[in-house]
Amino acid sequence: MFSQGVTVFTIRGIPIKLHISLLLFIPYLAFVATTQFSSIAAALGVPEETMQLPPLVWGIILALGLFCSILAHELAHSLVALRKGLRVRAITLMMLGGVSQIEDDDPDHEAWIAFAGPLMSFGIAAMAYLAYLLASGPSGVSATLLAFSLTNLVLGVFNLLPAFPMDGGRVLRGLLSRRIGRERATQVATSVGKGMAVLLGLGGILSFNLILLFIAVFVYMGATAEQARLGAQAILRGMPVARLMTDRLGEARADESAPAVAERLLRHNLAGARVVGPLRPGDLDRELGVVTAWDLGRMAERGELPLTMAAAIRSDLPRVHARDDASHSIDALTAGDTGAVAVLDETEHVVGLVTPAEIQRAMALLGAVQAGARHLGVAGRPG
Ligand SMILES: [Zn+2]
Repeated sequence: MFSQGVTVFTIRGIPIKLHISLLLFIPYLAFVATTQFSSIAAALGVPEETMQLPPLVWGIILALGLFCSILAHELAHSLVALRKGLRVRAITLMMLGGVSQIEDDDPDHEAWIAFAGPLMSFGIAAMAYLAYLLASGPSGVSATLLAFSLTNLVLGVFNLLPAFPMDGGRVLRGLLSRRIGRERATQVATSVGKGMAVLLGLGGILSFNLILLFIAVFVYMGATAEQARLGAQAILRGMPVARLMTDRLGEARADESAPAVAERLLRHNLAGARVVGPLRPGDLDRELGVVTAWDLGRMAERGELPLTMAAAIRSDLPRVHARDDASHSIDALTAGDTGAVAVLDETEHVVGLVTPAEIQRAMALLGAVQAGARHLGVAGRPG
């Protein structure tokens, strides 16, 4: 969902991506900011001659400032996560603000990572308010500073609503996890999140606020997805990855053309191919990695299908071991946007893949097995 986006620059190794929806959002933000600037300028009684620039220009400056403060908010999340030793895949700036893709499998740090963003927003609000107090007399600058301060304050407060997956909901889960465990904490936080989503949605409808309505849908979907993930983990727990994975892998040479390999995977109904070739010219052949059918499809879709299989290998494909617990493969799968997890044996060779299809199949079968067990239990009861 957040994977589409163009990387514009990187900060401390974190790719900062811009999502296509910003094309709509930035003009909307400039419109809202202009309206906000005008009402604050009116409230402050800014005289026409100290305005210096037309309200629209102040609005655009304000919108760009808000855009930067959203980035700062996300950076605060990500930098705390980095300090805690977690990996940050990317920060994507999109229509409803920003998203930090953090591998947050560490419940101990979740509350603090989630709180860092709103804290940054409050810090920016305080500094802008100080600058507003120092600015002499009502002017275009002081009205913009006050609007900037207030918006960051609202941004911080709004994000702290306990509406999982928003920051406040994550703070709630992080704090609850220590007392009642991760699983119960997720149940509580996602249920509260869904309730908040309904309230936000009602608020959005009653106030004709489209953005609020979007956020409500986003929160509801996010909470639902997290509940589904939790349910899947509970069902799969105790089962080794080896029983979940597909071992339908073919082989491909590093210098083979990707379309030719795609055709072979299709013909033999394979989920991916181990790529074999020399690491450097003249070296002996070895396993270089694995390319999944999903990868080939995605690259073709984007018009980025490479000429050789060697260039199609993804270095960021998550890896699990065949003897690992299957529930871990769900974390690995949802943490990235790779669409598959490579499964390794003891000798670190790729022996299989886990994709959403494998998880769905295993869950369907486990559901049927459990239903059968219940059925037999009732039918077989004596008396
Ligand atoms: Zn945040």
